[in-house]
Amino acid sequence: MSELPPAVASQINDLRLEAEKPLLLCDADEVLFQFLAGLELHLEDEGYFLDLVSFALSGNIKHESSGEVASQARVRELLDGFFSSRMKDLKPVAGAADALAALAKDIQIVVLTNTPPALRSARGAALKRSGMDYPIIANKGSKGAAAKAIAESVTGPVAFIDDIPHNIDAVLAAVRHAEGIHFVADPRLRQLIPKATSAKHRVDEWPLAEPLIREMLLG
Ligand SMILES: [Mg+2]
Repeated sequence: MSELPPAVASQINDLRLEAEKPLLLCDADEVLFQFLAGLELHLEDEGYFLDLVSFALSGNIKHESSGEVASQARVRELLDGFFSSRMKDLKPVAGAADALAALAKDIQIVVLTNTPPALRSARGAALKRSGMDYPIIANKGSKGAAAKAIAESVTGPVAFIDDIPHNIDAVLAAVRHAEGIHFVADPRLRQLIPKATSAKHRVDEWPLAEPLIREMLLG
């Protein structure tokens, strides 16, 4: 398992968690926010489009007129531009705020997202604006080390929800007692990716996820 970067460790140290309250670790993009839809708006402005033939960005971003696949360097530039200009304006996933608000009565929630540290406060503001004012950890690299550090401060049950299978694998390997939910908000992406094998459940809509999380964490 990779080591926890100091910048992530300090954010985790600042969390004020209740030791015995069940904990939900929740990814942001494609779980709470419509990442793909926002990215597509940015690509369109830049003369590109996403040709969703597989669950990946690299290789699937193409030039609008020539149809040519964007180079890795160009993909990096497009993503950097997207992160700095549009991440703060991503729309929430339907039902996410209501589901989390209902769960938050009995469960503590921490948003664990791989996000450049400079965008942490903008993303926190976007969560707040969308009715999801929960602490946010801007992680880098594998989510396993961060999840382990967060989970160490609680004794109650832990659940983790993410759209990317290797994030779920990493967190469940690092936090042995945690359970995973695989959630993919975008309807087109859903069809491109089967359930992560390590996850207990696959569910792609918040009204269905809420009772499952409740059952996992509260029994
Ligand atoms: Mg995600």
